[in-house]
Amino acid sequence: MDTISGTTRLFALLGSPVSHSLSPLMHNEAFRLLGIDACYLCFDVEEQALPRAVEGLKACHIGGFNLTMPDKTAIIPLLDDLSAEARLIGAVNTVVNRDGVLTGYNTDGIGFFSSAREAGFEAGGSVITILGAGGAASAVAAQAALYGARTIHVFIRKTTSRQQALLRLRDETEKTVPGCQVKIGYLEDALSLKSAVSESALLVNATPVGMGEAQEDTLVTDLSLFHPGLTVADLIYNPRMTRMLRDARSLGLNVFNGMTMLLYQGAEAFRLWTGQEMPVEEIKQKFFR
Ligand code: NAP
Repeated sequence: MDTISGTTRLFALLGSPVSHSLSPLMHNEAFRLLGIDACYLCFDVEEQALPRAVEGLKACHIGGFNLTMPDKTAIIPLLDDLSAEARLIGAVNTVVNRDGVLTGYNTDGIGFFSSAREAGFEAGGSVITILGAGGAASAVAAQAALYGARTIHVFIRKTTSRQQALLRLRDETEKTVPGCQVKIGYLEDALSLKSAVSESALLVNATPVGMGEAQEDTLVTDLSLFHPGLTVADLIYNPRMTRMLRDARSLGLNVFNGMTMLLYQGAEAFRLWTGQEMPVEEIKQKFFR
């Protein structure tokens, strides 16, 4: 804090709640390590207050900001432009302010695939299966398509209210990335799920099943789904090893959790704001172990 001066640039997280966020730790440490004259703060901004908050921050020449729920979709009408992945996903987690022009990005999927790459998985030409249809599932699906995945199976609950959003994502993705197929199935249809996973190289849990009160639950109870060569990812990072990951690991499969996704989505936002690479190894050692 003793480095804040009259020229310090502001970056921020907007959402509600924001008090639990690791983003201030990682960005402020990265600014410090690289000697960048900037700071990162959290602002609790509910959806109805977002237009006023954004107008004020823009008037103050903020460098950029992250968004968390419920502001990830509410921000879209307030922006001047959207990146390809943010357009597909229909949600924004990072905004860059270039001389008053606000551009929205979504770095969640980029963060996920950086962490997948670290675990030895490459999306190009792959078939993947994603469980869930929320914001995180959409980010992973859209980014998989942009990184060259051939087929993306998305499994949802029959009762989901997100079917329309998912159909839009499928149609927009197939239009934007010719040759990529998005196939939608139901979690309740065990045979279709097994068939999709059998041809997949990556299985991703993008639901909260495995955390909180559902900590001992898993969406994969039939362990024969875990075929050799399958990489299994869980976007959950608390606990570090969900039951799904433990089951897959016990059968010798390559697994990874959502911890480094969180780091790498922040690293990509940092790169967009500063043009510099976040020193991820130092940040990982300090905050993500
Ligand atoms: P979200 O928008 O609320 O979506 C959750 C999805 O999970 C929905 O499709 C929901 O189904 C489905 N779901 C919830 N309970 C279920 C159950 N019992 N059985 C089957 N499906 C169920 O949440 P999100 O933001 O996408 O987050 C999803 C998970 O990813 C969370 O665990 C979150 O912590 C994690 N996440 C991690 C990171 C990271 O950086 N590592 C980033 C974002 C999210 P319906 O559509 O039927 O409601």
